[in-house]
Amino acid sequence: MNEASANAPTVLGFNFDNSYARLPRHFFERTNPVPVAAPRMIVFNRPLADALGLEAETLAGAEGAAVLAGNRMPAGAEPIAQAYAGHQFGHFTMLGDGRAILLGEHVTPGGRRVDIQLKGSGRTMFSRRGDGRAALGPMLREYVVSEAMHALGIPTTRSLAVVATGEHVYRETRLPGAILTRVAASHIRVGTFEYAAAQAGRDDLRTLALYTIDRHFPELRAEDDPFPALLASVLARQASLVAQWLHVGFIHGVMNTDNMSLCGESIDYGPCAFMDAYDPATVFSSIDHGGRYAYGNQPSIAQWNLTRFAETLLPLLGESEEAAVETATAILDTFPAVFRDFWVSGMRAKLGLFHDEEDDAELAQALLALMREEGADYTRTLRDLCRANLPDTPFFRGEGFRHWLERWRARLARQREPLEEARRLMRSRNPAVIPRNRRVEEALEAAGRGDLAPLTRLLAALERPFEDIPAHAAYAEPPKPAAEPYRTFCGT
Ligand code: AMP
Ligand code: MG
Repeated sequence: MNEASANAPTVLGFNFDNSYARLPRHFFERTNPVPVAAPRMIVFNRPLADALGLEAETLAGAEGAAVLAGNRMPAGAEPIAQAYAGHQFGHFTMLGDGRAILLGEHVTPGGRRVDIQLKGSGRTMFSRRGDGRAALGPMLREYVVSEAMHALGIPTTRSLAVVATGEHVYRETRLPGAILTRVAASHIRVGTFEYAAAQAGRDDLRTLALYTIDRHFPELRAEDDPFPALLASVLARQASLVAQWLHVGFIHGVMNTDNMSLCGESIDYGPCAFMDAYDPATVFSSIDHGGRYAYGNQPSIAQWNLTRFAETLLPLLGESEEAAVETATAILDTFPAVFRDFWVSGMRAKLGLFHDEEDDAELAQALLALMREEGADYTRTLRDLCRANLPDTPFFRGEGFRHWLERWRARLARQREPLEEARRLMRSRNPAVIPRNRRVEEALEAAGRGDLAPLTRLLAALERPFEDIPAHAAYAEPPKPAAEPYRTFCGT
């Protein structure tokens, strides 16, 4: 550490109460971030800092950069690396925070508890052969996409800042290093329970389960037998989350069990991307060869991950293993119906429908089938559908669509709400602006050259996704048909 980083406590509005560090010892390792050469603030999320009750003005400056680079500890922080395991592309592995440090849990003036985590903060005992660091591009990508998800109204971890380290990281090439400050309701993952099941006894597993209930499902505290209810509640939140991903065309890219947060927030934005032309088989990640995490597979992968979660809970789910398996299976079997309800109700709103009718799912599916046949842009098509006058494009002129349109109009006419109200609902559910892949790449590439203007413009457009703002029109444009399919690379 340099002179400026002496251990004088800084407050900066942080109000830490570190409950995770009070869990049994083997759930974490106390460890400090490794200081970096020259912290420099690249992006700072002032509205988020304000919402958390932090001192935005100071945090945005040099002192904030030192703190959010891990060079200087704010008062009350108790830095730890969390232990966890996970199924990665189907294979079980012991993992843990190999390049992240949880500074602690900040309790906001409103009483909300959030994890403050530095990602890219140096080696820990879980680093295996990794360097514990992160490159600027992937950290900015997480910042952009997580903030876009938040603006879209989808549960997600947030991003408070990206700080350049003034050091390089070595991947295929030499890249500028950076640290992201991630704000999360917690970092309890399916993989945390997999770790507990593999490494801890029943008592510690029970402690973790009760801790999770306290933190995320307090309404279950009063239950006589809260553990089956915990499984059902986690299942419902995942089903809801994945339905919302599908509604906006989001592909997570690495739905490993260590990247699935029990509280139902989207977490760990690596090779994620938004789909352009509608096709459920869409995969962007360069490492997802089998298409395991393709757009349309996400619901069944969520159920697969929930099954791994249920397995870890078995010791808490019944007197005998047989009874426990029966309880778990009965809950897991509800997933398809629970997911479908979330999915259909979201699609209804996207189509301007206020009440249920039997055929609504089929009506939505029929539109998606047409979009797939025609290679129509998912986001743009649905946004165009909110307009009184449909644009004169080949898709909307097509025979199949005209037939569907008649059916949809008849459906709209059967509801009491006036058309204008239906359009208002649609405009609030079908974004105009999403983080289009090439726009994100372009912004990250410029930032890598030291030009932050495209990133700033992109972030501004993503902040108001449901408005048609002329200055943001370019961000609503679908890409021109490309020769090369778009690929994202793993966010290391
Ligand atoms: P992720 O792909 O970010 O979900 O990470 C999967 C696992 O690999 C986690 O245990 C990370 O901590 C670890 N990991 C990823 N990148 C690095 C790195 N550069 N150094 C050390 N560990 C890493
Ligand atoms: Mg991860």
